[in-house]
This record gives sequence, C-alpha cells and structure tokens, in this order.
Amino acid sequence: MESALTARDRVGVQDFVLLENYTSEAAFIENLRKRFKENLIYTYIGSVLVSVNPYKDLEIYTKNHMERYRGVNFYEVSPHIYAVSDNSYRSMRTERKDQCILISGESGAGKTEASKKILQYYAVTCPASDQVETVKDRLLQSNPVLEAFGNAKTLRNDNSSRFGKYMDIQFDFKGAPVGGHILNYLLEKSRVVHQNHGERNFHIFYQLIEGGEEDLLRRLGLEKNPQQYQYLVKGNCPKVSSINDRSDWKVVRKALSVIGFNEDEVEELLNIIASVLHLGNIQYGGEDSGNAYITTDTQIKYLARLLGVDGLVLKEALTHKKIIAKGEELKSPLNLEQAASARDALSKAVYGRTFTWLVNKINVSLAYKDDTYKNASVIGLLDIYGFEVFQHNSFEQFCINYCNEKLQQLFIELTLKSEQDEYEAEGITWEPVQYFNNKIICDLVEEKFKGIISILDEECLRPGDASDITFLEKLENTVGGHAHLTTHKLADGKTRKVMGREEFRLLHYAGDVNYNVNGFLDKNNDLLFRNLKEVMCMSENKILTQCFDRAELKDSKRPETAATQFKTSLAKLMEILMSKEPSYVRCIKPNDAKQAGRFDEVLIRHQVKYLGLMENLRVRRAGFAYRRHYETFLQRYKSLCPETWPSWQGKLADGVSTLVKHLGYKPEEYKLGRSKIFIRFPKTLFATEDALET
Ligand code: ATP
Ligand code: MG
Repeated sequence: MESALTARDRVGVQDFVLLENYTSEAAFIENLRKRFKENLIYTYIGSVLVSVNPYKDLEIYTKNHMERYRGVNFYEVSPHIYAVSDNSYRSMRTERKDQCILISGESGAGKTEASKKILQYYAVTCPASDQVETVKDRLLQSNPVLEAFGNAKTLRNDNSSRFGKYMDIQFDFKGAPVGGHILNYLLEKSRVVHQNHGERNFHIFYQLIEGGEEDLLRRLGLEKNPQQYQYLVKGNCPKVSSINDRSDWKVVRKALSVIGFNEDEVEELLNIIASVLHLGNIQYGGEDSGNAYITTDTQIKYLARLLGVDGLVLKEALTHKKIIAKGEELKSPLNLEQAASARDALSKAVYGRTFTWLVNKINVSLAYKDDTYKNASVIGLLDIYGFEVFQHNSFEQFCINYCNEKLQQLFIELTLKSEQDEYEAEGITWEPVQYFNNKIICDLVEEKFKGIISILDEECLRPGDASDITFLEKLENTVGGHAHLTTHKLADGKTRKVMGREEFRLLHYAGDVNYNVNGFLDKNNDLLFRNLKEVMCMSENKILTQCFDRAELKDSKRPETAATQFKTSLAKLMEILMSKEPSYVRCIKPNDAKQAGRFDEVLIRHQVKYLGLMENLRVRRAGFAYRRHYETFLQRYKSLCPETWPSWQGKLADGVSTLVKHLGYKPEEYKLGRSKIFIRFPKTLFATEDALET
C-alpha cells in the first residue's frame, strides 16, 4: 500500500490550508496541477471549494457518488461539489438557517455545470412526495429553457450564460424541495443584434430554425437556413460541433410544457422570436444624410401579423421619432443610421423584456402553492459572471466587475465574521487578520452624487453636449484624486503608456482594469423611441402586452438608467445573501482551448489572482491551519496512544489533551476549544498522519 507520504507527493493536499508554504502562489498552483493530472478537480480552502473544469466527463457524478456524500462529514470524504451541497442541506436542516452557495469564476470555468450538479444532487437525494416530483421536474426543466433564451456560443464557452442568475430552492419541514424562485441579472441584449466573429446569437434562434417543424416555420415566415438572417450571420458561425440545435429544440419544447406553458403561450413566444429575426432583416433605403425609408415590405407584413400590430404604424415608427416638447408632439424623420439603430433598439427591448417575462413565468410555475409550506427553508444558488478583463473593456465589464467587488466585500465580511464567531464559540482568543477592505472601491462606484454611476447618470440626463468624453472629463474633475481611479490625463508617465485617451482605469481588489468610455452613455440610457413603445403597447401578442405597459407612456419621468437599475438589484441581492449562511465554489478554467488534460499555468495564475484565492487562503490560515471536533480527531488517532486506545472513557477534551501530549505537540502548536482542537501548522498534523501509517 502506498504510504501517506508518497500519496501526498503525488496527488497533493486536498485542502490548501495544509500547504506548508501557504503564501507561495507557485506552491498553490503546483498543488492544483498535481491534482488536476490525477483527475482530482476539487480541492478545498477550508470550506471553500476550488474546482478546475476537466473538459471531459468524469465518472464522479453517479448516484453512487451522491450516496457516498449523503450525511457524511465534510472532511471524511474527498472534496466534491456534492459535499458542499450536502453540507448546506444539512446545515439548513439542523440549524434551521437559510443557506446560499455562491459560484464564481470566469467564462467557461464551470459555474453553470456546478449549479446543475447541485440541483441534481437535491433532486435525487432529497425526500419526495407526488407533488414534489412535479416541483423537482420543474426546477430541473427550468434550466434548458433559460439556457435556450439566455445562453449562446461565445469564443470562451460553447454554452455561455449571458445573464447572471440567482435561484432559491425552497424546502419544506421534511426537507423536500417544494418550490423555487429565480432572479436574473443583466442579460447581454446587444447579442440579439450583433455577434463577434466566431460567436452566435442566443441558442433559441438556431434551435427554432433547425428544429422547428415545417408548418410552424411556414407560419412564422422563416426559412430553414440561419444564414438568411442578418441577426444570425454577424459571427459567421451558424453551426457548432458540440451543439445539436435540432435535438435541443425538442428538449426545450418538452421543458416548456413541463413548466406549464400551454400551446398558445408557446406560439406567442415563438411569434416574438421570429419577429426579432424579421426585424433584423428590415432594410432601409435613402441617402446617408437624407430620410430613411423601408425597402423590405415582406418583413413588415410578417411583423404586423406575428405581433398583431398595424403595419403602417410600425413602418412609420421605424423611420421617425416622436418626442414630446412643451406638451406638443413632434415627429421628425430619421436618417439611415438613426433608423437602423432604432430598429436594433426595438429588437433588443423586445427580446430583453420577453426574457424577463419568461423568468417571471417560470417563477409562477415554481411558486409553492400550499400554505403548509409557508415556513420553507431556502438554499440559494448564485451563478454569476466572474471578473472580466479583456483587451477592450466597456460598460458591460464595468458592471460585471462592480458586481464582483460587491461579492468580494460580502465574502470578506462573512468569512472573517464566521472565523471570528467560531473562535468566540470555542473560547479561543481571536487574532486579528490584516486584509484589504475593498469597500473604498465599492463606494467609488456606487456612492450617491460622487460615485462613478451617479456621474454617469448625470451626464445621461444632461441635455446639450453631453458625450462619453464629457463623462470622462467629469470623472477626472470629480473623482480624479481617488486612489483607485486614474485616466490618461491623470496618469504618471509609466501608467499613461498602457492607457488609451478614452479610458479610465479602476484599481480593483483583484487587479487593474482599463475601461473605454465609448458607448457608456448610450448603453446606460438604453433608450427606445416613444413611438416604438407605443406600437408595442398596441400589440395583440399577449406576452408583449405584459412586457410593454401603457402606463410607461404616460409616465413623463425618465426610466432608471441601466447602471442604476443594476446597482439597485445588486443591493437587493446583497441583502438576500447577507441573511443566509454562505458556501463558496470557485471555478477555474484550465485552458482557452476547451480541451481536456491541458493545464495552462499562465491562465490559471491569472484566475487564482482574480478569484482572490491567495488572500482567501491567507485569511483562513492566519490563525490555525486545521480544526476538528474532538470526537472526530480522537476517533482517527486514538490508536497512537495507549491511554486512548481502544477507547477513551472520560471527557473528549481530556482524551484529546492526553493524546496530543503523548504525541509531543508543543503548546504553541495547538489550542483546545470547547468542542474542537485547533492546530496551527500542517506539519504537526502530517507527522500525526504519517505515524498512523507506520
Ligand atoms: P459562462 O460564464 O460562460 O456561463 P460557466 O462558468 O457557466 O461559463 P459552464 O457552461 O458551466 O461554464 O462550463 C463550460 C463547459 O465546460 C461545459 O459546457 C462543459 O463542457 C465543461 N464542464 C464544466 N464543468 C464540467 C465538469 N464538472 N465536468 C465535465 N465538464 C465540465
Ligand atoms: Mg454559465
């Protein structure tokens, strides 16, 4: 049999807190690499689970595996996503405290797969009744539907979630899942009208075209070729080898009916999807500077029918803009560029609002209806984009990275707090840990009046010459002196070289990111011309009538900007998460080629940095590397001491004390709390482990 020593050499340690050289990033990555090579994709940092995407199917998600982790102590089995799932479930059941599992990592790291594994674990292992079966089915089936409408093929991931998702799973007093609720964040609407080379639009478009029955497509006026549609050709990537649009279509159609869509609703939904494609094929004629007119009447005909609107009114709305000035309605013609962007704005609004409607509809179907479940306990799953640092970073990255700052803040607060609580509960003196508090960066972004979002909103509202550049200037004037912000103008010689003139740089907790201000105002405004809204309000499509509310037209107040809406929804999310006990899953992508077995060290080092893992480990190790309940500790090592073997009759604490004294632990190496032993250095524990082997 392999000794513990050589096993550790080969497969590394299963908890990073046991790394001797815990401040060394190289040692950290070496440990990850060793384990990855052995197909051990999971490793802990204390109770945080680090996961490396294997890019191949490992035989570790079977029913047998689920059983192995059921009701078992975290540390008795090898690290696994099921251990985290089970641990949260048990804490919820025994401590009656709501839980949440926060999954983060960059695109393609495996967040969505992790969240599905967790959901499957609960679906299989939790108790059930007849009614519960439907809920379980609906919870599981909500995934393919949301992925069809909210995921797309990108360069980084063939099934990339283009929205953030928080899902509550509700459990009754018997621990059976009885309902759920989903919150969605920042759908990437721009993808509806444009895709980068090698990327696709949302899956649903291709599924419908490839999988839709002939008479359905005829009714929708669609051809069976995605290359016919302007909104689908931009990325020049209609087919993806890992995706079967035709069979996915069947899965989605079935999922829609499990969730409770009736045939009419499905039809209305598909009418909208087809309409977006027709909208994209509307073409304009006219001089560059002159008024635009529509040259493609077939599309208007289809749109009028599918959306249930007057074709002429729609045509006019797509070529003119209406504004209300001093109580009077003014209509002015649009030029080519304006008309095209009005059309695209309509497509984005229609798709974006339909997506929100879809989430609400799923929520109605997941809502538990029975009063006996009033006091449900909850496990929340957060699957949300990690830090994004690209060559070119825009408004979207700004929002996403702001979100990650908020999550980091929550993480610090809750981790330190739980460490502190545990020390207190165990009666051990707390030794303060130095860490970087990123509140200062959150404030820089979100503070009233002088935060970046406020300044951006102010420029969005200011009539006259407001532009992306005046926004940048205002940033310089207002927060130019801030320690975490620079611009080209403010930068020193060295920084200036790596910054564009239209960029501002934020010094995030995880590293620096340059944001290009181009498009910030437009994206934040997210405007749809009034007359286009009016047409949509007149639509006979039952989904659109719920998406476009007439009250919106009467309301003279400007709608909230995109950034402010996001800020508000994030604040709500933080509140939700704060009220729960968190667990963390940190996902890492091993290479950019989506290939199994390749461990790209540069790429991984980057992620270890942006996930804050070294800092995480440092905080976790600041006091003690290892802690265990007396009972567990004694059970494992009692054979090493004649007085504790074969069993200890007295108090557990005395048994452990006798045992470690016999083993020669020095006083500075450990502390005894109320129910646990705390060991400061891994080497102490390893020596004990090795003694077991000899
Ligand atoms: P995004 O932010 O783009 O949504 P993500 O973090 O959600 O990315 P996933 O979609 O979960 O990434 O994973 C990307 C792909 O990696 C999956 O489609 C799958 O092929 C593979 N993958 C992820 N996790 C695992 C796993 N545990 N086992 C096998 N393959 C996996
Ligand atoms: Mg995802």
